[in-house]
Amino acid sequence: MNGTAHAAIGAAGGFIVANTLHTDPVTTVFLVGLGGVSGLIPDLDIDGKLRGRITLSHKVIRTVAQLIGMMMIFYSFYEGTGTEKYIGIGIGLGMVGIASSIKQKHMLTITGVGVLAGGLSLEEIWLILLGVYIVGASVVSHRGYTHSVIGVIFFAIIASKLEASLGINGVYYACLVGYISHLVADSKLLPVNKRGIKLFLPFSTKEI
Ligand SMILES: [Zn+2]
Repeated sequence: MNGTAHAAIGAAGGFIVANTLHTDPVTTVFLVGLGGVSGLIPDLDIDGKLRGRITLSHKVIRTVAQLIGMMMIFYSFYEGTGTEKYIGIGIGLGMVGIASSIKQKHMLTITGVGVLAGGLSLEEIWLILLGVYIVGASVVSHRGYTHSVIGVIFFAIIASKLEASLGINGVYYACLVGYISHLVADSKLLPVNKRGIKLFLPFSTKEI
């Protein structure tokens, strides 16, 4: 399944969460976007591994990295204070720049380090954890840990910290539903998938 399909399914999940919680229109749009981005997150593990064969996915990764950089800029602008604000904006701009210029292998690792640095400077635990996640995803094999229960738990912690930081109801569930929808779409639950996901890594390498 390609990035566009994963994003669309994740966005639909975000919409369902918003509808269930009866959120206002602005929050609904935000949750739909968040679900869509979360639906792409597990495939951050394709960095450099299958290059050449998946040019579309590479573009998707670059777009996600640019979006994270832009979110970093906006977030720093509205939430940061004093020097932190400008450091955050600087890092965000750097990320957008790096994501746009660096083509291959190390792009994602660098992005992760940038997010981590941004999280440390803004003292935002969710951003620090997201940085750790991205760096981790850039070094593990495709359809491995990011597509497992461990990945879900790690991302759930990020999502809960994000919801606490933003104070917007529904953020946690929109992220989680988006992420889980990706794993379902990659699993053998769909008869079209010949390969499944190793959901219970490191305890079992059986593909589900
Ligand atoms: Zn996947």
